[in-house]
Amino acid sequence: MSNAKLSRESLELHENLRGKMKLQPKIEVKSSKELSLVYSPGVAEPCLAIQQNPKKVYDYTMKGNLVGVVSDGTAVLGLGDIGPKAAMPVMEGKALLLQQLAGVDAMPICLDTKDVDEIVMIVKNIAPTFGAINLEDISAPRCFEIEDRLRKECDIPVFHDDQHGTAIVVSAGLRNALKVVGKQKENVKVVINGAGAAGVAVMKLLLTMGYQHVTACDSKGIIYKGRPYGMNTEKEYMANLSSAEHQEGTLADALVGADIFIGVSVANVLTEAMIQSMNQDPIVFALANPNPEITYEHAMEWGVCVIATGRSDYPNQVNNMLAFPGIFKGALAVQATDINDEMKMAAVKAISELVTAEQIERGIVIPNVFETDVTDDVAQAVMQAAIDSKVAQKIPSLI
Ligand code: NAP
Ligand code: MG
Repeated sequence: MSNAKLSRESLELHENLRGKMKLQPKIEVKSSKELSLVYSPGVAEPCLAIQQNPKKVYDYTMKGNLVGVVSDGTAVLGLGDIGPKAAMPVMEGKALLLQQLAGVDAMPICLDTKDVDEIVMIVKNIAPTFGAINLEDISAPRCFEIEDRLRKECDIPVFHDDQHGTAIVVSAGLRNALKVVGKQKENVKVVINGAGAAGVAVMKLLLTMGYQHVTACDSKGIIYKGRPYGMNTEKEYMANLSSAEHQEGTLADALVGADIFIGVSVANVLTEAMIQSMNQDPIVFALANPNPEITYEHAMEWGVCVIATGRSDYPNQVNNMLAFPGIFKGALAVQATDINDEMKMAAVKAISELVTAEQIERGIVIPNVFETDVTDDVAQAVMQAAIDSKVAQKIPSLI
C-alpha cells in the first residue's frame, strides 16, 4: 500500500471509530437488586474489605489487570514533541495491543506537563488505580529520572517501554545472532550509536547480561569519561561503563574491529568503509525509524552477516510488540511490585528461543510477532522470574 493511501485509510479508520478503545462493563444492571449489589449500598462491602486489607483491591476491582499508558507527548514515534492530545492515538494503539495480545486492560493517560516533578507526582498519585504503569514516548533524558523515581516510589511496576522493550528485543536478537557467527558475548566488541532512551537501556541490559566490551556514541562521537561537551547523567554512566580503549573519536573510530553495531540514532550513518573496518561477520542492528542507519540492501551488498531493522518489510524486525504485552501479562499475573532485570532477562531468553535452529542458520534471529505464541511464552518466563526474584505478591497455581 502506498504511504498516501495508508495515511488516508488510517485517518478514516480513526474518524469512523472515534478512537480505538472503550471501557465496557462486565455486568449489566437491570434491576434495583443488581443496582444495590454493584453500587450503593452493597458496594460498601468490598470498600470496607479493601480498607481493612489493601491487598484485596486486587480481588475486588479491575486494578490487577489494568495498565496506565502514560505519556507527556514529548517523543512520539519519530514525530517528536507533538503534545499530549496528539499523542492520544498512539497511547490508544498501545492499549489496544495490550488488550488484544495479552488480555490486559489499558488506559491511555496523556499529561499536559513536561515537568519531571509534576509527572512523578501525578503518576504516583494515580497508581492506586493500576496494576502497572507503561511510560511511553517521554523524551530523554527526562524519561530516565521519571522512571527511576517512580520505580522507587510506587508499589506497582513502572516500565518505560521505549527503553526496555527495545533493549529486550535487541538482546534477544543478539543472543541468536551470536549463534549465527559463532562468537561469545563476553568477547565481542559492541558499538551502540545513539544515547537516547533506547541506546542507554540497550547498554544497561547488555552489560547486565554479561557483555563486556561496549562503547557508546552520540551525535558528537564517542562518549568517553570526562568528555567536556554534550553530556548528561546517563551519558556519564555510559562513559563510566564503556570499554576503556576508546577516548575521543568518531563512530568510524569506534567501529574499527567491532563485532556488533547497534543503531538507535538516525538514518544513513553507516558507510561501506565503516562496515569493512569491522571484525569479520559483522552484526548490524540498524533501528532508526523509519529509515535505518544502513539500508537492508547496502548491508547485504557490503558484507553484513546478520542485519536487523525496525521495519516490518524486512526480516528480523526489532518490534517491541514481541516483549511488552507478555511482560505486562506476566507481571500482572503475579501482582509483581517491579519489572526487574531478572524479568527482563527471562523475556530475552523466551523471545530468542522462539527462533528455530534452522532459522538461525538462515540468519533469522528475531521471531515474527504474528507467527508465534510469543506473548504467552514471555508471560510465563516473566512470571517465573518475578517469583524467583521475590517481587511476586501472588503465586498462581498454573505455573
Ligand atoms: P532519542 O531519545 O531521541 O535519542 C536519539 C539519540 O541519537 C541521541 O543520543 C542523539 O544524540 C543520537 N543521534 C542523533 N543523531 C546522531 C548521529 N548522527 N550519530 C549518532 N547519534 C546520533 O531517541 P530514541 O527513543 O532512543 O530512538 C532513537 C532511534 O531509534 C529512533 O529513530 C527510533 O525510532 C529508533 N528506535 C527503534 C526501535 C525499534 O525499531 N524497535 C525502538 C526504539 C527506538 P545526542 O544525544 O547527541 O543528541
Ligand atoms: Mg514508543
